[in-house]
Amino acid sequence: MAHAFDCLVAGGGHVGITTALAMKRADPRMRVALVDPTPATGGAVDGRASAIAAAGRRLFEHLGAWSAMAEAAQPIRDMVITDSRLDDAIRPVFLTFGGTLDGGEPFAHMIDNAAMVAALLAAARAAGVEILMPERVVGFTDEGSAVAVELGSGRTVRTGLLVAADGARSCLRDLAGIGTVHTERGRSGIVLTVVHERPHEGRAWEHFLPAGPFAILPLTDDAEGRHRSSLVWTEASETAARLVEGDAFTLLAELERRFGRELGTVAPLGRARAFPLGLTLARDWVKPRFALVGDAAHAIPPVAGQGLNIGLRDAAVLAEVVVDARRLGLDPGRIDVLETYARRRRFDAVEMGATSEILDRLFAIDLPPIRALRDVGLGLVDRMGALKNRFVREAAGIVGDVPRSMRGERP
Ligand SMILES: Cc1cc2nc3c(=O)[nH]c(=O)nc-3n(C[C@H](O)[C@H](O)[C@H](O)COP(=O)(O)OP(=O)(O)OC[C@H]3O[C@@H](n4cnc5c(N)ncnc54)[C@H](O)[C@@H]3O)c2cc1C
Repeated sequence: MAHAFDCLVAGGGHVGITTALAMKRADPRMRVALVDPTPATGGAVDGRASAIAAAGRRLFEHLGAWSAMAEAAQPIRDMVITDSRLDDAIRPVFLTFGGTLDGGEPFAHMIDNAAMVAALLAAARAAGVEILMPERVVGFTDEGSAVAVELGSGRTVRTGLLVAADGARSCLRDLAGIGTVHTERGRSGIVLTVVHERPHEGRAWEHFLPAGPFAILPLTDDAEGRHRSSLVWTEASETAARLVEGDAFTLLAELERRFGRELGTVAPLGRARAFPLGLTLARDWVKPRFALVGDAAHAIPPVAGQGLNIGLRDAAVLAEVVVDARRLGLDPGRIDVLETYARRRRFDAVEMGATSEILDRLFAIDLPPIRALRDVGLGLVDRMGALKNRFVREAAGIVGDVPRSMRGERP
């Protein structure tokens, strides 16, 4: 039976929209649909902001979405890492990174998720992606020559390829019978926007405290000219729940203990929210006519702020592989085509997941000999220009198997 779409993407978060847009832009004849239960705006509008590495920014530019979000994007000009106990009067700086690549390009920008999703969705609409919102995928069957996808409204549509971009608790992954490896240490990330007295000058701070990393990430000033930063503050899940559900006075007092003095007085702006943190890796990434992207394939602790960035790389690589297959006259739903995508992406995601988990565990140890060793290690890295340069290029996402659209080349 003829199918309505060449590719249907389930999940309109950043990664899902980027996947649909990247396919459509690379091959405008492809019939691409995007399905999400959240009306019109996509699902990622939750008051959070994300650090987007240089490779992600290049991808957004290539996809025609960057200019609409550029005003909401704050370049990260440098990054400072400290390692201390909560009540230490002074937090020694062990590692500093300059935030620009050769040519002055910032290695990352902080962008409000809402602005990013709105810009991506507008670009997807303009490119001709069919947006099915609010709608959800509730089931699917591989019929051999196509996948029959059941939607919440009761409709069934057929597609040559079904992409699951439905987040860390992916129900499509479960429906496909794909298991996961999951570890959790009972911790949550409190996410909160704050206003502070002094300008941040584009500097990001990561304080490694015994309960976990406390990151202060610079945002653009608001309409009233107030200086803003986004916090990702890791705590034991019960502590995090107590803090976000408790009274404003306790939250402010605990915030002040952790925030440091560099930016002057601080106050929360809007509501704090807590997200459970863990590492989830899918055991398989593809099946015939089916592929996982983004958090559906890999949800990693946000210690290095890379979760979304590796999802964007999935989107770019999958679009590249699918469009290359179509150019050769191959069916992109074939398992050997999809395995090329999985092979190119799996190692990167597992490596990033493992690195985040190791960093997270290493910095959670409060024993004096271990603290001394890791601080010596950080101090050494700080003095080794070449190694630091390599870290910055890694964080910018411009080393390894970089897809063409992230290198600014034609897809
Ligand atoms: C506290 C915290 C801070 C973070 N900070 C950063 C950072 O600074 N930088 C970074 O790179 N990453 C960061 N991350 C990680 C990042 O947020 C995620 O990797 C990213 O949001 C994943 O995007 P996604 O599109 O894969 O999934 P999601 O954003 O979870 O989107 C999934 C979408 O699928 C939709 N959906 C669900 N079920 C269905 C269905 N049945 N049918 C159709 N659609 C469906 C949902 O409505 C939703 O829109 C952070 C994560 C946390 C928890």
